[in-house]
Amino acid sequence: MTRPAIASFRAVSKRYGSHCALRDFDLDLREGELLTLLGPSGCGKTTVLRLLAGFETPDSGEIFLDGRKLAGVPPEARNVNTVFQSYALFPHLSVFENVAFGLKMRKLRGAEIRARTEAALRMVRMEGLGGRRPMQLSGGQQQRVALARALVNHPRVLLLDECLSALDYQLRREMQLELKRLQRQTGITFVFVTHDREEALSMSDRIAVMRAGRIEQLGPPRDIYERPANLFVAQFAGESNVLETTVTAITGPHTLTVELAGTPLLVRTDRKFDIGAGLTLVLRPEDVRVHEEAAAEGGLTGHVLERTYRGVTLDTLIALDAGPRIKASEFFREDAPALDHQPGQRVWVNWTPGWEIVLP
Ligand code: ADP
Ligand code: MG
Repeated sequence: MTRPAIASFRAVSKRYGSHCALRDFDLDLREGELLTLLGPSGCGKTTVLRLLAGFETPDSGEIFLDGRKLAGVPPEARNVNTVFQSYALFPHLSVFENVAFGLKMRKLRGAEIRARTEAALRMVRMEGLGGRRPMQLSGGQQQRVALARALVNHPRVLLLDECLSALDYQLRREMQLELKRLQRQTGITFVFVTHDREEALSMSDRIAVMRAGRIEQLGPPRDIYERPANLFVAQFAGESNVLETTVTAITGPHTLTVELAGTPLLVRTDRKFDIGAGLTLVLRPEDVRVHEEAAAEGGLTGHVLERTYRGVTLDTLIALDAGPRIKASEFFREDAPALDHQPGQRVWVNWTPGWEIVLP
């Protein structure tokens, strides 16, 4: 069942001087989802958050929260909170006071402030550390306090702007899981901004891939990675081998023959192509297989340029005789023979039919 929209952008445009940061931007946020805005630096992710939070005003278009038009509603009346990469904690206040600050401003009763602040600290697993100053906390703990400070307000929507970027790899992985757990536990709608595809793929209910102020594709992580709408999304969502081919025959209702520099390849697709049309094949390195003998299903020939040991996988870069280079990432398995292809070695390359991504 599709959940109702909690917030909507309708044809929103935003300029800074002559630069168009968002153009005709449409988006529906669903109640209780974790939606990630993924895209390169400068594509407008922060602008989306600032518009929803009320720190910026659209030049045209409308933004709705719970069915209400937000035009003219000041940030503090929006029930939307933001967590930034810089935690922006008050250094002279204790952890407890930092978290309670917003509630005090709103003049809530002391008993309620205490109860909500303690609940928020428990939620981020910081109970018992309320008396500390931010300086006495690790980066990860400061991040948790910043989260508690937002959650204590029971926001309808929580905005997280690259909030894990400052953390080292291990801590970042931990906080990714922690954020997901918090989102599930509270049921609050999260809009999470990142330029890190792994982070987006592993955390999100849905991902909006953005480029130059627009959404290129919106969907669940598997759609974005396995069924990208175009080459930009394919390349932003994961490592991509790109093969430019030409359609030479319609072989069946869902199969085509294409040619890569004279080598015929069979391709599966539901998309319609004419003979002679250009067709781009994208292959994820983990779907590419390398063989030392000609594979039964045919494939492409080439020679090994280099191999890179990466722990979980062994990567092999191959120069295809047909022209382009192709990279294969193969997993080590105890029951599989060693995949130790030497530079210069002749190899055959193929992939499971149907696993190729086909783009016009
Ligand atoms: P992202 O968060 O995806 O990196 P932003 O939303 O911050 O992108 O910015 C989108 C574009 O708008 C960028 O090109 C940026 O330089 C520009 N921009 C953002 N804020 C301002 C501002 N206050 N003044 C001028 N240009 C801005
Ligand atoms: Mg930004």
